Amino acid sequence: MRLILMGPPGAGKGTQARYVADHFGVPAISTGDIFRANVSQGTPLGVEAKRYMDAGEYVPDEVTNLMVRNRIDEDDAAPGFLLDGYPRTLAQVTELDGMIEFTGHRLDAVVVLTVDSEELVQRLLQRAQTDGRADDTEDVIRRRQEIYLEQTEPLIGVYRERGILVEVDGMGEVDDVTARIFAALDEIPQS
Ligand code: ADP
Repeated sequence: MRLILMGPPGAGKGTQARYVADHFGVPAISTGDIFRANVSQGTPLGVEAKRYMDAGEYVPDEVTNLMVRNRIDEDDAAPGFLLDGYPRTLAQVTELDGMIEFTGHRLDAVVVLTVDSEELVQRLLQRAQTDGRADDTEDVIRRRQEIYLEQTEPLIGVYRERGILVEVDGMGEVDDVTARIFAALDEIPQS
């Protein structure tokens, strides 16, 4: 199973990614988590990425694409994977297409979590208090929402046209959202 989990910042991608990946027995690959791990270890990639992340901007495509390519090449991702937070730009869509085509597989589904914008901001402000992530200040939260609308939301139309888009209501309890995702994905033939 090769899946993408999409949605605006605060939609609950990270939380759901783990459940969905476990359900299908594939690794959850979160670009945000990989960047954060590199930042905390002070690697050259982390130093580069931090400048963008702290401002709520996207890390440049070349950097992100190479990182994902290397991660997908690892053995555990051979049977499939769930991508959380990638692709986020049209250029990343093209790059990912190439990576998957190279392995002779196909993308099975793109799940989009829909959550209304007021709820999103509330969730992120709440997370700022509990987790204290550097990119969770109010200005940066707003900037991340803007960039999502500008650069990432157009990807929904691309995948809809391909007939692999699965829209799931992301409002309400975590367990209910998980159940909705499973119900939608279990109808899809696994490659
Ligand atoms: P959230 O789920 O809150 O939107 P993530 O944890 O997925 O955020 O990502 C945090 C930050 O990491 C992003 O704001 C961005 O700077 C960087 N990032 C993650 N994925 C990508 C990507 N695919 N392309 C560019 N930058 C990315």
